[in-house]
Amino acid sequence: MTINKSHQALNDTVIANGYCVGCGACAVPEDSPFKIVMDDYGQYQSSLKDANVFASTHIDYEKLCPFGSGAKNEDEIARQIFSDTCEHNSQVGYYNGVFAGHVDEGEFRKRGSSGGMGTWVLNELLSKGLVDYVVHVKSESAGQDLNSIPFKYQVSETLEETQQGGKSRYYPIELSEALQAIRNNPGRYAVVGLPCFIKSVRLLQAQDSILAERIQYCVGLVCGHLKSAHYAESLAWQMGIPPQELEGIDFRIKDASQPANRYSTYAKGSSGEKVVPTNQLFGADWGAGAFKYKACDFCDDVFAETADVVLGDAWLPEYVQDSYGTNVVVTRNQQIRQLIVNARTEGRLEMDDLGVEKAVQSQDAGLRHRKVSIGYRIYREQIAKAWVPAKRTGPAKTLSPRYEKKRQRLRTELRALSHESFLKAKTRGELSVYLSTMKPVYSRYSRQGRSFVRRVLSFVKRRLKAVVKF
Ligand SMILES: Cc1cc2nc3c(=O)[nH]c(=O)nc-3n(C[C@H](O)[C@H](O)[C@H](O)COP(=O)(O)OP(=O)(O)OC[C@H]3O[C@@H](n4cnc5c(N)ncnc54)[C@H](O)[C@@H]3O)c2cc1C
Repeated sequence: MTINKSHQALNDTVIANGYCVGCGACAVPEDSPFKIVMDDYGQYQSSLKDANVFASTHIDYEKLCPFGSGAKNEDEIARQIFSDTCEHNSQVGYYNGVFAGHVDEGEFRKRGSSGGMGTWVLNELLSKGLVDYVVHVKSESAGQDLNSIPFKYQVSETLEETQQGGKSRYYPIELSEALQAIRNNPGRYAVVGLPCFIKSVRLLQAQDSILAERIQYCVGLVCGHLKSAHYAESLAWQMGIPPQELEGIDFRIKDASQPANRYSTYAKGSSGEKVVPTNQLFGADWGAGAFKYKACDFCDDVFAETADVVLGDAWLPEYVQDSYGTNVVVTRNQQIRQLIVNARTEGRLEMDDLGVEKAVQSQDAGLRHRKVSIGYRIYREQIAKAWVPAKRTGPAKTLSPRYEKKRQRLRTELRALSHESFLKAKTRGELSVYLSTMKPVYSRYSRQGRSFVRRVLSFVKRRLKAVVKF
């Protein structure tokens, strides 16, 4: 009898070394030895139910994990699906259409984080009869309060249900229950997800003919990184709502008097609601990467390169001034491209042809962190003799400009410190434990890359402040 040891190998590499992103793919196969649990840091993680369990022989668990050894990379997966009909760009992946714009019909834009295209695409696939169901993320208690936590992958089949899933949830989610539901219920499905989640779906489809047949469209989101549940708690706590009282959160409240990137955070606790501009809350600087999953620092996919279409924010000067939000949209599937072009002609969408270089520009910082600096992070793991997942980028000892290496080390430190210090803060019931640990490192991080003159000026300013205080 052949014994399948791929689950053990996955456990000893990806999971044991902290690279699990908690997508849930490994818990989907029937009789899977894995279950998905929320850890103390507020992250979904895969866990072996029983170390001695035997996995069914036809599943190779290392091949269905997005960080697993032996799994195809994003280029290999995407090439098989899109290379005949699309052009390729090293940053964006394959594309047959690149747009920027927003939805001009219904409440999609108002109820979305950006231009509303995320929910619009899902609804268009439903209303045109191309799918029977959509699998997306919404509040577990959607219908009553759309912002109440936890957020969860769920199956919807009407516009009303689909719209309950609008907005970006910077919150841990996992796919295993939703994909099992697809296996148990025949029909045609569209699944929305972050790049590594869509990669998981494609890898699962390669080993599961039912999912391959039923999941007809993958809708990707451009991704900076995924946050733990403690990110939401840390923002709300600064707004006066401690973790045990937090009931709901909206990470993207549009402010009509501000550019699109100056959004606010809404939090609801047992004793009331608050809305605060997000940039006034510590830890909301995405570049610094507080509460980031470690796996995200070892992912080189920003534009969900294996998805049929990907939607993000058009962070470009010509669009960012519009407070209501503008999407960047990259299509790879011909039918989805046609849906967008038709709706634009019918006046339902306001969409400009953007050009691939502008799409790259719209995610400049994310692409540099994910596709360039990843080489240095891999190098650091390798010299520490640690296991590291195979990536499309190799190790790099140098980075340009020179301060970038220090910035990367500080980002790694901030990521680890945020998880540890917030757990301590929760245990002691004191937010200051988190803030006082993070702030000195964050201030060193923010100084990196500033010119010599600016650093001297900021030093003098700090000294003066100290003197005045004294
Ligand atoms: C963790 C995370 C990181 C992101 N990073 C970036 C970034 O760096 N740059 C950028 O331009 N855009 C990023 N985005 C995407 C951006 O925030 C918007 O989601 C996107 O622009 C679509 O907005 P919309 O108004 O068109 O969609 P909406 O109409 O608001 O629809 C959003 C769709 O996404 C689904 N969804 C929400 N949260 C999740 C989730 N956690 N996982 C899977 N599906 C979800 C919803 O169910 C809904 O179907 C990120 C999104 C997330 C969730």
